[in-house]
Amino acid sequence: MEITLQRTVAPKQKPDENSLVFGHQFTDHMFIMDWEKGAGWHDARIVPYGPLPLSPASNCLHYSQETFEGLKAYRTAEGSIQLFRPQENFRRLNNSNERLSMPKFDEDFALEALKTLVELEKDWVPYGDGRSLYIRPFMIATEPNLGAHSSTEYKFLIILSPVGAYYESGLNPVSIYVETNYVRAVRGGTGFAKTGGNYAASMIAQDEAARAGFSQVLWLDGVERRYIEEVGAMNVFFVLGDEIVTPALQGSILPGITRKSVIEILKHWGYKVSERRLSVEELSAAYDKGEFTEMFGSGTAAVISPVGLLRYQEKDMVLSGGKIGELSQKLYDELTGIQWGKRPDPFNWIVKVC
Ligand SMILES: *Cc1c(COP(=O)(O)O)cnc(C)c1O
Repeated sequence: MEITLQRTVAPKQKPDENSLVFGHQFTDHMFIMDWEKGAGWHDARIVPYGPLPLSPASNCLHYSQETFEGLKAYRTAEGSIQLFRPQENFRRLNNSNERLSMPKFDEDFALEALKTLVELEKDWVPYGDGRSLYIRPFMIATEPNLGAHSSTEYKFLIILSPVGAYYESGLNPVSIYVETNYVRAVRGGTGFAKTGGNYAASMIAQDEAARAGFSQVLWLDGVERRYIEEVGAMNVFFVLGDEIVTPALQGSILPGITRKSVIEILKHWGYKVSERRLSVEELSAAYDKGEFTEMFGSGTAAVISPVGLLRYQEKDMVLSGGKIGELSQKLYDELTGIQWGKRPDPFNWIVKVC
Protein backbone atom coordinates (compact mmCIF):
# COMPACT_ATOMS: atom_id res chain seq x y z
CA MET A 1 0.00 0.00 0.00
CA GLU A 2 1.27 3.43 -0.92
CA ILE A 3 1.36 6.20 1.70
CA THR A 4 0.30 9.60 0.38
CA LEU A 5 1.63 12.78 1.96
CA GLN A 6 -0.21 16.04 2.41
CA ARG A 7 2.14 18.54 4.02
CA THR A 8 0.91 21.15 6.45
CA VAL A 9 0.84 24.69 5.07
CA ALA A 10 1.15 26.09 8.60
CA PRO A 11 4.03 24.41 10.50
CA LYS A 12 3.77 25.02 14.23
CA GLN A 13 6.33 26.74 16.39
CA LYS A 14 8.22 24.00 18.25
CA PRO A 15 7.62 24.15 22.01
CA ASP A 16 10.33 25.14 24.47
CA GLU A 17 11.99 21.85 25.38
CA ASN A 18 12.27 22.85 29.03
CA SER A 19 8.51 23.17 29.46
CA LEU A 20 7.28 19.99 27.81
CA VAL A 21 4.33 18.42 29.61
CA PHE A 22 3.58 14.77 28.80
CA GLY A 23 1.09 14.38 25.96
CA HIS A 24 0.16 18.04 25.56
CA GLN A 25 1.93 19.08 22.37
CA PHE A 26 1.69 17.34 19.03
CA THR A 27 3.76 17.48 15.87
CA ASP A 28 2.66 18.87 12.49
CA HIS A 29 1.52 15.61 10.89
CA MET A 30 -0.23 12.33 11.69
CA PHE A 31 -0.69 8.99 9.96
CA ILE A 32 -4.16 7.57 9.21
CA MET A 33 -5.56 4.60 7.34
CA ASP A 34 -9.11 3.30 7.12
CA TRP A 35 -10.70 -0.16 7.24
CA GLU A 36 -14.10 -1.23 6.06
CA LYS A 37 -15.66 -4.65 6.01
CA GLY A 38 -15.10 -6.11 2.56
CA ALA A 39 -12.51 -3.51 1.54
CA GLY A 40 -9.87 -4.05 4.26
CA TRP A 41 -7.22 -1.39 4.95
CA HIS A 42 -6.94 1.47 2.47
CA ASP A 43 -6.09 5.15 2.04
CA ALA A 44 -2.87 5.16 4.05
CA ARG A 45 -1.92 8.82 4.36
CA ILE A 46 0.14 11.32 6.27
CA VAL A 47 -1.84 14.52 6.73
CA PRO A 48 -1.61 17.68 8.86
CA TYR A 49 -2.29 16.96 12.55
CA GLY A 50 -5.85 17.99 13.42
CA PRO A 51 -9.35 16.99 14.57
CA LEU A 52 -11.08 13.93 13.12
CA PRO A 53 -14.48 14.08 11.47
CA LEU A 54 -16.36 11.47 13.50
CA SER A 55 -20.03 10.55 13.70
CA PRO A 56 -21.42 11.01 17.23
CA ALA A 57 -22.77 7.47 16.79
CA SER A 58 -19.27 6.01 16.26
CA ASN A 59 -18.95 2.67 17.99
CA CYS A 60 -15.76 3.64 19.88
CA LEU A 61 -17.60 6.46 21.67
CA HIS A 62 -20.28 4.13 23.02
CA TYR A 63 -18.87 0.63 23.28
CA SER A 64 -15.14 1.36 23.58
CA GLN A 65 -13.78 -0.69 20.71
CA GLU A 66 -10.40 1.01 20.97
CA THR A 67 -6.79 -0.15 21.28
CA PHE A 68 -3.52 1.74 21.58
CA GLU A 69 0.24 1.56 21.95
CA GLY A 70 3.00 3.72 23.39
CA LEU A 71 6.65 3.88 22.35
CA LYS A 72 9.31 6.52 21.79
CA ALA A 73 11.78 7.83 19.23
CA TYR A 74 15.18 8.78 20.65
CA ARG A 75 17.82 11.21 19.37
CA THR A 76 21.36 9.91 19.76
CA ALA A 77 24.45 12.02 20.48
CA GLU A 78 25.37 11.63 16.78
CA GLY A 79 22.02 13.15 15.79
CA SER A 80 20.40 10.01 14.39
CA ILE A 81 16.86 9.01 15.37
CA GLN A 82 16.02 5.52 16.61
CA LEU A 83 13.23 3.33 18.00
CA PHE A 84 13.27 0.65 20.72
CA ARG A 85 11.72 -2.73 19.78
CA PRO A 86 8.87 -1.19 17.72
CA GLN A 87 7.92 -4.56 16.19
CA GLU A 88 6.89 -5.66 19.70
CA ASN A 89 4.44 -2.76 19.94
CA PHE A 90 2.75 -3.58 16.65
CA ARG A 91 2.57 -7.27 17.53
CA ARG A 92 0.94 -6.37 20.85
CA LEU A 93 -1.47 -3.97 19.14
CA ASN A 94 -2.63 -6.81 16.92
CA ASN A 95 -3.06 -9.05 19.99
CA SER A 96 -5.15 -6.32 21.58
CA ASN A 97 -7.16 -6.02 18.36
CA GLU A 98 -7.89 -9.73 18.41
CA ARG A 99 -9.27 -9.52 21.97
CA LEU A 100 -11.36 -6.45 21.15
CA SER A 101 -12.68 -8.14 18.00
CA MET A 102 -11.02 -5.53 15.79
CA PRO A 103 -9.25 -6.12 12.46
CA LYS A 104 -5.53 -6.81 12.35
CA PHE A 105 -3.08 -4.89 10.19
CA ASP A 106 0.23 -5.68 8.49
CA GLU A 107 2.90 -5.08 11.15
CA ASP A 108 5.74 -4.51 8.66
CA PHE A 109 3.65 -1.93 6.84
CA ALA A 110 2.79 -0.16 10.11
CA LEU A 111 6.49 0.02 10.98
CA GLU A 112 7.27 1.51 7.56
CA ALA A 113 4.49 4.06 8.06
CA LEU A 114 5.83 4.92 11.51
CA LYS A 115 9.39 5.37 10.24
CA THR A 116 8.15 7.58 7.38
CA LEU A 117 6.18 9.75 9.81
CA VAL A 118 9.01 10.03 12.36
CA GLU A 119 11.52 10.89 9.65
CA LEU A 120 9.21 13.61 8.35
CA GLU A 121 8.91 14.98 11.92
CA LYS A 122 12.56 14.42 12.92
CA ASP A 123 13.07 18.04 13.94
CA TRP A 124 10.42 17.45 16.62
CA VAL A 125 12.53 14.83 18.42
CA PRO A 126 13.88 16.70 21.47
CA TYR A 127 17.62 17.14 22.02
CA GLY A 128 17.86 17.31 25.81
CA ASP A 129 18.92 14.51 28.12
CA GLY A 130 16.15 11.99 28.73
CA ARG A 131 13.76 13.73 26.34
CA SER A 132 12.14 11.93 23.44
CA LEU A 133 9.30 11.87 20.93
CA TYR A 134 6.40 9.86 22.34
CA ILE A 135 4.58 7.79 19.71
CA ARG A 136 0.94 6.88 20.10
CA PRO A 137 -0.44 4.41 17.53
CA PHE A 138 -4.14 3.66 18.12
CA MET A 139 -7.23 2.19 16.54
CA ILE A 140 -10.86 3.22 16.89
CA ALA A 141 -14.15 1.76 15.71
CA THR A 142 -15.95 4.37 13.62
CA GLU A 143 -19.10 2.76 12.25
CA PRO A 144 -21.98 5.17 12.92
CA ASN A 145 -24.34 2.61 14.46
CA LEU A 146 -25.66 2.31 18.02
CA GLY A 147 -26.13 -1.43 17.64
CA ALA A 148 -23.89 -3.15 20.18
CA HIS A 149 -21.82 -5.32 17.86
CA SER A 150 -18.35 -5.19 16.34
CA SER A 151 -17.93 -2.18 14.11
CA THR A 152 -17.67 -2.60 10.35
CA GLU A 153 -15.39 0.48 10.06
CA TYR A 154 -12.14 1.39 11.79
CA LYS A 155 -9.34 3.94 11.68
CA PHE A 156 -5.68 3.35 12.52
CA LEU A 157 -3.75 6.48 13.50
CA ILE A 158 -0.30 7.42 14.71
CA ILE A 159 0.24 10.73 16.49
CA LEU A 160 3.51 12.08 17.93
CA SER A 161 4.20 14.17 21.01
CA PRO A 162 7.57 15.57 22.18
CA VAL A 163 8.04 14.72 25.86
CA GLY A 164 10.42 15.75 28.61
CA ALA A 165 12.41 13.40 30.83
CA TYR A 166 10.01 11.51 33.11
CA TYR A 167 12.16 12.52 36.05
CA GLU A 168 13.47 16.00 35.17
CA SER A 169 15.35 16.17 38.48
CA GLY A 170 16.74 12.62 38.16
CA LEU A 171 15.39 9.19 39.02
CA ASN A 172 13.05 9.47 42.04
CA PRO A 173 11.40 6.81 44.23
CA VAL A 174 7.58 6.85 44.34
CA SER A 175 5.05 5.84 47.02
CA ILE A 176 2.44 3.22 46.19
CA TYR A 177 -0.32 1.44 48.10
CA VAL A 178 -1.89 -1.94 47.57
CA GLU A 179 -5.43 -1.41 46.25
CA THR A 180 -7.90 -3.51 48.26
CA ASN A 181 -11.19 -1.99 47.12
CA TYR A 182 -11.18 -1.87 43.30
CA VAL A 183 -9.85 -4.36 40.78
CA ARG A 184 -8.46 -3.63 37.33
CA ALA A 185 -8.91 -6.86 35.41
CA VAL A 186 -9.72 -10.54 35.67
CA ARG A 187 -8.51 -13.53 33.72
CA GLY A 188 -10.65 -13.95 30.62
CA GLY A 189 -11.21 -10.19 30.52
CA THR A 190 -9.18 -7.54 28.72
CA GLY A 191 -6.30 -7.04 31.18
CA PHE A 192 -3.64 -8.20 28.71
CA ALA A 193 -4.92 -5.86 25.98
CA LYS A 194 -3.87 -2.23 25.75
CA THR A 195 -7.34 -0.73 25.56
CA GLY A 196 -8.89 2.43 26.94
CA GLY A 197 -11.54 0.53 28.91
CA ASN A 198 -8.92 -0.85 31.31
CA TYR A 199 -7.85 2.70 32.05
CA ALA A 200 -11.42 3.98 32.42
CA ALA A 201 -12.00 1.31 35.07
CA SER A 202 -8.90 2.31 37.02
CA MET A 203 -9.16 6.13 37.05
CA ILE A 204 -11.12 6.21 40.31
CA ALA A 205 -8.40 4.30 42.17
CA GLN A 206 -5.74 6.53 40.62
CA ASP A 207 -7.62 9.67 41.71
CA GLU A 208 -8.06 8.38 45.27
CA ALA A 209 -4.37 7.49 45.44
CA ALA A 210 -3.40 10.98 44.28
CA ARG A 211 -5.64 12.55 46.94
CA ALA A 212 -3.95 10.39 49.59
CA GLY A 213 -0.51 11.54 48.41
CA PHE A 214 0.45 8.36 46.56
CA SER A 215 1.57 8.25 42.97
CA GLN A 216 -0.06 4.93 41.99
CA VAL A 217 -1.85 1.86 43.27
CA LEU A 218 -0.62 -1.73 43.14
CA TRP A 219 -3.37 -3.95 41.78
CA LEU A 220 -4.24 -7.35 43.21
CA ASP A 221 -5.87 -10.12 41.17
CA GLY A 222 -9.60 -9.64 40.74
CA VAL A 223 -10.69 -13.06 42.04
CA GLU A 224 -8.79 -13.94 45.21
CA ARG A 225 -7.55 -10.41 45.83
CA ARG A 226 -4.23 -11.77 47.02
CA TYR A 227 -1.87 -11.99 44.08
CA ILE A 228 0.15 -9.03 42.85
CA GLU A 229 -0.63 -7.88 39.30
CA GLU A 230 0.79 -4.53 38.19
CA VAL A 231 0.78 -0.78 38.79
CA GLY A 232 -1.06 1.85 36.70
CA ALA A 233 0.83 1.72 33.40
CA MET A 234 3.78 -0.28 34.71
CA ASN A 235 4.69 -3.87 35.40
CA VAL A 236 6.37 -4.58 38.74
CA PHE A 237 9.47 -6.35 40.01
CA PHE A 238 10.44 -7.32 43.57
CA VAL A 239 13.84 -8.22 44.95
CA LEU A 240 13.28 -11.05 47.47
CA GLY A 241 16.61 -12.30 48.78
CA ASP A 242 18.54 -13.52 45.74
CA GLU A 243 15.40 -13.93 43.63
CA ILE A 244 13.89 -11.22 41.43
CA VAL A 245 10.16 -11.85 41.07
CA THR A 246 7.64 -10.43 38.63
CA PRO A 247 4.05 -11.65 38.34
CA ALA A 248 3.53 -14.25 35.60
CA LEU A 249 1.46 -13.25 32.57
CA GLN A 250 -1.84 -15.08 32.93
CA GLY A 251 -4.20 -12.91 30.94
CA SER A 252 -4.97 -10.11 33.39
CA ILE A 253 -1.61 -8.31 33.22
CA LEU A 254 -0.33 -6.15 30.37
CA PRO A 255 2.70 -7.86 28.81
CA GLY A 256 5.06 -4.90 28.96
CA ILE A 257 7.92 -4.59 26.49
CA THR A 258 10.02 -2.95 29.19
CA ARG A 259 9.12 -5.91 31.46
CA LYS A 260 10.29 -8.35 28.82
CA SER A 261 13.50 -6.35 28.27
CA VAL A 262 14.23 -6.19 32.02
CA ILE A 263 13.83 -9.97 32.30
CA GLU A 264 16.16 -10.52 29.34
CA ILE A 265 18.79 -8.13 30.70
CA LEU A 266 18.66 -9.62 34.21
CA LYS A 267 19.06 -13.15 32.83
CA HIS A 268 21.92 -11.95 30.64
CA TRP A 269 23.57 -10.52 33.76
CA GLY A 270 23.14 -13.86 35.52
CA TYR A 271 20.41 -12.95 38.01
CA LYS A 272 17.77 -15.42 39.10
CA VAL A 273 14.48 -14.09 37.70
CA SER A 274 11.12 -15.76 38.34
CA GLU A 275 7.83 -15.10 36.59
CA ARG A 276 5.38 -16.53 39.07
CA ARG A 277 2.44 -15.87 41.34
CA LEU A 278 3.33 -13.67 44.28
CA SER A 279 0.84 -13.01 47.06
CA VAL A 280 0.78 -9.82 49.09
CA GLU A 281 1.11 -11.99 52.25
CA GLU A 282 4.34 -13.49 50.90
CA LEU A 283 5.67 -9.99 50.24
CA SER A 284 4.73 -8.80 53.68
CA ALA A 285 6.35 -11.83 55.35
CA ALA A 286 9.51 -11.39 53.26
CA TYR A 287 9.64 -7.76 54.36
CA ASP A 288 9.50 -8.79 58.03
CA LYS A 289 12.39 -11.20 57.46
CA GLY A 290 14.39 -8.45 55.80
CA GLU A 291 14.38 -10.27 52.45
CA PHE A 292 12.12 -7.90 50.50
CA THR A 293 14.57 -5.09 49.83
CA GLU A 294 13.74 -3.47 46.53
CA MET A 295 10.76 -2.84 44.24
CA PHE A 296 10.44 -1.06 40.91
CA GLY A 297 7.98 -0.54 38.10
CA SER A 298 8.81 -0.90 34.39
CA GLY A 299 7.14 0.89 31.49
CA THR A 300 7.92 2.95 28.41
CA ALA A 301 7.15 6.32 30.01
CA ALA A 302 9.33 6.10 33.14
CA VAL A 303 11.54 3.19 31.96
CA ILE A 304 12.30 2.11 35.56
CA SER A 305 10.41 3.61 38.48
CA PRO A 306 11.90 2.80 41.90
CA VAL A 307 9.38 2.38 44.72
CA GLY A 308 10.47 3.85 48.06
CA LEU A 309 7.32 3.08 50.03
CA LEU A 310 4.72 0.33 49.64
CA ARG A 311 1.69 0.51 51.94
CA TYR A 312 -0.53 -2.53 52.48
CA GLN A 313 -3.52 -1.76 54.72
CA GLU A 314 -1.88 -0.33 57.89
CA LYS A 315 1.60 -1.55 57.11
CA ASP A 316 4.27 0.64 55.56
CA MET A 317 7.12 -1.16 53.84
CA VAL A 318 10.08 1.12 53.24
CA LEU A 319 12.29 -0.15 50.44
CA SER A 320 15.95 0.58 49.75
CA GLY A 321 15.81 3.07 52.62
CA GLY A 322 13.29 5.13 50.61
CA LYS A 323 16.03 5.75 48.05
CA ILE A 324 16.74 4.44 44.58
CA GLY A 325 17.56 0.75 44.79
CA GLU A 326 20.84 -0.50 43.39
CA LEU A 327 19.25 -2.77 40.80
CA SER A 328 16.73 -0.08 39.75
CA GLN A 329 19.56 2.32 39.02
CA LYS A 330 21.58 -0.31 37.16
CA LEU A 331 18.63 -1.29 34.97
CA TYR A 332 17.66 2.32 34.33
CA ASP A 333 21.19 3.14 33.19
CA GLU A 334 21.37 0.08 30.95
CA LEU A 335 17.96 0.52 29.30
CA THR A 336 18.27 4.26 28.74
CA GLY A 337 21.86 3.70 27.59
CA ILE A 338 20.62 1.33 24.88
CA GLN A 339 17.63 3.51 23.96
CA TRP A 340 19.67 6.68 23.47
CA GLY A 341 22.55 4.84 21.81
CA LYS A 342 25.02 5.53 24.63
CA ARG A 343 25.63 1.83 25.30
CA PRO A 344 26.03 -1.21 23.07
CA ASP A 345 22.84 -2.98 21.95
CA PRO A 346 23.72 -6.67 22.45
CA PHE A 347 20.13 -7.83 21.85
CA ASN A 348 19.59 -5.94 18.58
CA TRP A 349 16.64 -4.02 19.98
CA ILE A 350 17.30 -0.74 18.19
CA VAL A 351 15.66 0.15 14.87
CA LYS A 352 17.19 3.14 13.10
CA VAL A 353 14.87 5.69 11.50
CA CYS A 354 17.32 8.14 10.01
C1 LIG B 1 1.61 0.04 28.47
C2 LIG B 1 1.38 -0.58 29.80
C3 LIG B 1 2.42 -1.14 30.57
C4 LIG B 1 3.89 -1.04 30.17
O1 LIG B 1 4.18 -1.60 28.95
P1 LIG B 1 5.52 -1.16 28.17
O2 LIG B 1 5.44 -1.92 26.91
O3 LIG B 1 6.65 -1.59 29.02
O4 LIG B 1 5.46 0.30 28.00
C5 LIG B 1 2.11 -1.77 31.76
N1 LIG B 1 0.84 -1.83 32.19
C6 LIG B 1 -0.18 -1.29 31.50
C7 LIG B 1 -1.55 -1.39 32.05
C8 LIG B 1 0.05 -0.65 30.30
O5 LIG B 1 -0.97 -0.10 29.62
